[in-house]
Amino acid sequence: MKHDILIIGAGISGSVLAERYAKKGKTVLVLEKRDHIAGNCYDYIDENGILVSKYGAHLFHTNYDEVWNYVNKFSEWYPWEHKVIARVDEHTVPIPVNMTTVNTLFNLNLKNETEMAEWLEANRIDIEDPENGKEAVLNKVGPVLYEKMFRHYTKKQWDKWPEELDASVLNRIPVRTNTDDRYFSDKYQALPKHGYTRIFENLLSHPNITVKLNTDYFDVKDEFSTFEKIFYTGPIDRFFEFKHSLNDQLEYRSINFVSETVDKPYFQENSVVNYPGMEVEFTRIIEYKHFGNQQSDKTTIVREYTTDKGEPYYPVLNKKNQEIYNKYKEEAAKHPNIHFVGRLANYKYFNMDQAFKNALDLFHELEKKKTLKYAE
Ligand code: UDP
Repeated sequence: MKHDILIIGAGISGSVLAERYAKKGKTVLVLEKRDHIAGNCYDYIDENGILVSKYGAHLFHTNYDEVWNYVNKFSEWYPWEHKVIARVDEHTVPIPVNMTTVNTLFNLNLKNETEMAEWLEANRIDIEDPENGKEAVLNKVGPVLYEKMFRHYTKKQWDKWPEELDASVLNRIPVRTNTDDRYFSDKYQALPKHGYTRIFENLLSHPNITVKLNTDYFDVKDEFSTFEKIFYTGPIDRFFEFKHSLNDQLEYRSINFVSETVDKPYFQENSVVNYPGMEVEFTRIIEYKHFGNQQSDKTTIVREYTTDKGEPYYPVLNKKNQEIYNKYKEEAAKHPNIHFVGRLANYKYFNMDQAFKNALDLFHELEKKKTLKYAE
């Protein structure tokens, strides 16, 4: 059967575009290399009866009303304000750094925002326009917290020191002068009541959409003739057969998720515990049953070891990679009917809501229906 639209990849970007075009009356073929939909948001009930995410914890947060309205059409959501704690020296402290973090680590008794702001002022190094991750952190919290909480975690996560990464990577995490210990500050913070996979089932359920799993586009592309439009959501360098990567590869970071069943009700006191020090090789431990306060006799924990082998999850943002990416971007511009969309094809460190927004914006831009509301 001939389809109007071809979409490569059934993650956020691909599934949103599939839903939008199907709703508009187009027939859509979605090719997915993996044996499941939902991309890296894929979750499932494991052998302990716990809803776990195959590719790491996913916490939805957004300030975009249009994204929030859109995702609410495909799932019920319950409020969930994510928190992260870190084991530092013999202490357990909140991350992002806040007043409690500083009081605990340095045995202080700062009592209010003014005192915390003064502490930061006395400890931070004033750097105008930080150029890399190290300068970004030194500018915000100074060298002692940099060393304890950011330097080695970053090396473990990226196999690069903070000075080898763009400031934006380390700037993802705020610093707070109060005791707010939420990981995010967004207006909407929630988790889907029936898991993320269900959202993608709903996005892709339109009769105009055909999904083919276990189908790598590059194995089958010669079988197709023409489509009105193609949306590619995989790594951009692969699309162009790595032609600009002869000297230097575009770098991606992957994660090796090591899962373990622990035969007791709880392993740790919070869903995510970071290990920013060098004493262990993993970056963090996720205990999934905390999300939504799930009940079970046993518990599933997952240690995350980042690696440059395996499936690409993160773009590695720095100047060198940006230069390589720009060459692919120029190449992509020569193909007006092929649209490169999402974290891997745009080489952007999108959060989930940004991926939704980017796909919705692209649809509206292409279809010139800017007056229509997203949720229509
Ligand atoms: N980071 C850190 N220490 C921490 C948490 C984060 O140094 O305890 C740095 C690290 O470089 C990390 C970046 O901040 O890659 C962004 O963290 P985030 O939690 O946003 O990463 P993600 O959840 O996307 O893996």
